[in-house]
This record gives sequence, structure tokens and C-alpha cells, in this order.
Amino acid sequence: MEKKNTWKTYTAKQLKDCDAFCKGYIDFLSDAKTEREAVEVMEGEMKAAGYRPLDEYIAKGTPLKKGDKVYRINMKKGVVMFNMGSDDLEEGLNILGAHIDSPRLDIKSDPLYEDGGFALLDTHYYGGIKKYQWVTLPLAIHGVIARKDGTVVKVAVGEKPEDPVFFVSDLLIHLAQEQMVKPAASVIEGEALDVIVGNRPLRFGKAAKDAKEKDTAAKDAVKKGVLDILKKQYGVTEEDFLSAELEVVPAGRAREAGFDRSMILSYGQDDRVCAYGSFEAMLDVKTVKRTACCILVDKEEIGSVGATGMQSKFFENTVAELLALAGKPGELALRRCLAHSTMLSSDVSSAFDPLYAQSFDKKNVAFLGGGMVLNKFTGARGKSGSNDANAEYIAQIRKIYEAEQINFQMAELGKVDLGGGGTIAYIMALYGMNVIDSGVAVLSMHSPWEATSKADVYETMRGYKAFLQKAQRL
Ligand code: MN
Ligand code: MN
Repeated sequence: MEKKNTWKTYTAKQLKDCDAFCKGYIDFLSDAKTEREAVEVMEGEMKAAGYRPLDEYIAKGTPLKKGDKVYRINMKKGVVMFNMGSDDLEEGLNILGAHIDSPRLDIKSDPLYEDGGFALLDTHYYGGIKKYQWVTLPLAIHGVIARKDGTVVKVAVGEKPEDPVFFVSDLLIHLAQEQMVKPAASVIEGEALDVIVGNRPLRFGKAAKDAKEKDTAAKDAVKKGVLDILKKQYGVTEEDFLSAELEVVPAGRAREAGFDRSMILSYGQDDRVCAYGSFEAMLDVKTVKRTACCILVDKEEIGSVGATGMQSKFFENTVAELLALAGKPGELALRRCLAHSTMLSSDVSSAFDPLYAQSFDKKNVAFLGGGMVLNKFTGARGKSGSNDANAEYIAQIRKIYEAEQINFQMAELGKVDLGGGGTIAYIMALYGMNVIDSGVAVLSMHSPWEATSKADVYETMRGYKAFLQKAQRL
């Protein structure tokens, strides 16, 4: 089948709109590098767009009615939002879902040590990464440190032009004879991904009274120097690392890529590209017949686990609250609402890479610029771990997209025996709703700098909007 290039379908106005939309997306990628930061940025936008906290409705028992717009935040790392439609809630929701966590290096609980005159932070990588890609890059540290007194300090160092950055070292090529013949999986070991954060010893001139005391003070003086800075800048001690969530990510803003500026190069496009598109589509849709919903979750990259992952009951509990406030309380109404829902479960898809052409089936892979991606199924080695969307449901989506002139491409990750991946789709499908995997094609997925096409980013957002307005219960 012939695949259409989205750029060729755009009018002058669409080209302009696409560029304006991607400008906002580039800002979002640059300002929201962690799940917490994404939620914070989004909450500001939701409030400005007239969304109100669902918990206010719950506390006062305020009934929910058509046109109401509400949201609920899950432990500062996930968010769900609803735009109440005119249809009965038992008829189901039109749901957009994506995740806002990305592969990175997490700082361990007891991380700070000194060796060879350096202060280093020990890390444990998060999600699937090629470890060798994370050395000798400028890195930033983002996250929170929670103190025992209940206060939480926010950290974001390495993004402003005047900020220092951090880095992981690599062995010089001159001595790398043994390293260079290792398999790529072990050329950089996980325990070798420690981040260098300092090299200057703290000076103990006045504090140390005698020679012996001076000696003790001088031990690990570089580490002490870093702790001294942390104390002064953030008011935290070494023990406070025990209750911190600090993420090491590539430093710097997202950029336009190519002479033609047709692409975006950035950290964390998996899956902030689908999250942003879904979120903006949701904000843009004013009135709906079927209640519209957007759920953005954490922990997808490590199996959707934990209280903030898709497997948590947060979503189900929140829909139960929604139904109760809309005058439809009870278990059966909840079951019906979820079973009758339809969903676009989004995540990035692999884009064809001409330098690794042998890894893809050209007929069944997404192309950068080829438009919104729909995956009937994902999974690995015989579709294992996949959600497999119903043919009838795909037919409905095709019809909507044809009518709305949304350019889309059906795709799989790559050649069937080579691997695969999972998403949150199968978890939502457990309720008996129709779910299809969808999203944006990404080149160099899970690398520190992933690439997308601006046309795909914009087209997929258009696809989300059309879905919210037109998808029907099957
Ligand atoms: Mn991923
Ligand atoms: Mn993903």
C-alpha cells in the first residue's frame, strides 16, 4: 500500500499551524524533563483553560454536569482530566492515554562518594537504555529532596546557560583495547554510570584546630565540598538523599533539526510527544457528546508498576468518583462505563532508519513524516505482551480519519524475530474497552536525543482531537 507523506498534504496555513504547535512542544520538552515537571506545567495550563480539581467537587459533593472540566493529580507524577459530555456516562468515555516518564539515570539512596579526587553520585538506570550512549554528555539533575520536617526541595541544575552540568566519564581510546572488543551491552557497565559532580576539596583552614583534626577533615574533602554546597543551596544533608527522587537527564533544550527544520531533536520524546499532543487536544476540544478523558501516567518504562503506573487503581477510583458525582454511583455503573469506553493508548513507535534498514519490515514500519501511527498490536516474539485491537474498532478509526483528513500509517516496531515492546494498552483493555495503540514515530528511541518529525507531532494531535469528537461506543 502507498504511504502518504504528511508534509505534501499541508496547506500554507497548516504548515504555519504545525510550526506554531511544535514551538509549544519544544518549550514543553525543555521545561518538563521529568514526570513531576510535566504535571506541574500541565496543571498551570489546565487551570488557565478552566479545568478545576475534581477533589474540590468531591469535598463539597458538588454534582458534575455537562460541560464541567475537572482534573486530578496522582502523587504529583500523573494526571487524569475529564471534559463532561452530554451522553450518559454509562455509555463510556473517549480516552486518550500516554506516559510522562522517560528512560534516564536515577540517583541511588546512598549515592555520594569520593574516589580519585572526584565526588561522584551513584546511579541506577531507569528503563531500557543503551548504557554506552550516556557517557561524555552534558547532564542535568532534576527532582526533589524530601526532608524529615515535611518540606520538599526542588532541584533542577544544568539547564540554564549559567548552570554547571554533570557528566559520566569514559575510558580514553588510547587505553581502550580491551574495552573496544566487549559486546555493546557490557562495554559500559551499569555500575560505571556514576555521575561526576565535583573535584575541588573543601578547605578547612580555620575550622581545624590541630594537625590531627585537619587530617580527619581532609578525608573525602571533595565530597565534603559538594555536601557543603548542597547545605548552603538547598538546606539538605547527606542523609536527605535517603528520601530524594533525583533524575539525571541530558542537559539542554530541545532543538529543531535539519536544514529544513522539519524535525525535533530532544531528550524524552518517548513519551512526552504523545502526552503533549493528547493533552493539548484535550484542552482544545470545547464541548463533547461523549465524555472526553486524558490520562497521563508514570512508570510505563519499568512496566507500569507502582501507585503512579497504569496498573494502579488510581484511574478506576477516579472514574468511580466521577460517576458518583454525576448521579450514577455504584460498581455496575463503573463497570459499564469502562467497558463501553474507547481509547487511543499512545506511545512512540519506531521510525524506519535507513542505516539499519535490515531491522525493519519496510511495508509495516512507520516512516518519519508519514503521519500518526496506529499499531493493531505491539508485543515481542509472537505478539507476547501485546494488546491486539479489534478489526471493527480499527475500521471505525479509519473512517473517522478519512473524514477528517488525518494522515495515518499502520505500523509494527520492526522485524518479528528481533524484539518488541509493550505499552499501557493491555492494562486498559482489561476493562473490556476497545483500545488501540497509537502515537508518533521516533528515530533513535530511548537514546539521550530522540528525533521526531514536526508533521507527525502536529498530525497526531489532530488525530487525537478528531477521536475525542467522533469516536463511538461499539
Ligand atoms: Mn519507551
Ligand atoms: Mn513509551
